[in-house]
Amino acid sequence: MTMDIRIVEVGPRDGLQNEKFPIPLDEKISFVKKLFLAGIQEVELTSLVRSDKIPQLADAKELIQEISQLGYIEKCWVLIPNVKGLEIALKLGLKNFAFFTSASELFNQKNINCSVADSIIRISEATKLLTASTYKTRGYLSMVFGCPYEGSIPFNKTAAIVDQLMHLGMNEISLGDTIGNANPVSVRECIKEVLKILSLKQLAMHFHDTKGLALVNIYESMMLGVTSFDSSAAGLGGCPYAIGATGNVATEDVVYLCEQMKMNTGINLTQLIHSSFDILRLLNKPSFSKVHQYFAKDLVHEKK
Ligand code: MG
Repeated sequence: MTMDIRIVEVGPRDGLQNEKFPIPLDEKISFVKKLFLAGIQEVELTSLVRSDKIPQLADAKELIQEISQLGYIEKCWVLIPNVKGLEIALKLGLKNFAFFTSASELFNQKNINCSVADSIIRISEATKLLTASTYKTRGYLSMVFGCPYEGSIPFNKTAAIVDQLMHLGMNEISLGDTIGNANPVSVRECIKEVLKILSLKQLAMHFHDTKGLALVNIYESMMLGVTSFDSSAAGLGGCPYAIGATGNVATEDVVYLCEQMKMNTGINLTQLIHSSFDILRLLNKPSFSKVHQYFAKDLVHEKK
């Protein structure tokens, strides 16, 4: 089976936001640069949220400016919390905007302090500013396969939120298994439900490997025709709901799976493994990727 698989590398934002310690700006720049050199096509770079809320991303503006100067900004997604965030993003010359809400009402209340309905209104106020067709938009839904506060959430409820987001003109939707609850059967049910609303090309899956099922969930999604996946180099990120547990599926593992199945990602696995060495050293932790652990022992660690 020959398929082109599109990977959105979320390590610099989703990953580093969920690490305990902030990473210095120059290390982030070097990380992002290495990701692109490894063949990564799209990076979720940072988020324009208040720096007092998320100190790990307090350098968002500086990072955006530095990555712009390197010529990569058109390949970067930035999370936009509201109209003010979008106005800043437009001034900084960004082109790709990610908006977020949740399938879970309770999680949304705890995470962004508003109902799902109010978050959709907030997103609509921002998307109204995006009149040029050169902009791309992505809607994130978290807790699609269950929530620590609300339990399981019916997929038709998720599909209804997806429908609302698509009506706001989103180019694509990313469905997040934020606590690593999905399994291939629930993945199949979920994808069938949302495909009533959008096309395969408009759908990305964002799996967490918290309990080790991310790759089988990705495989199941592929068998249903999904070709876009979010993942994080070295599995950076962790899980805020289970101390020590893994979060985002590791990009290395996804790339290896694709290589073995003769699917094309355009990513060089060896260079990808190298890209997170320095960050892991700073965080003083091993990679969560089994593929990284297996191959890294044969690689010479780059000296700075
Ligand atoms: Mg994630």
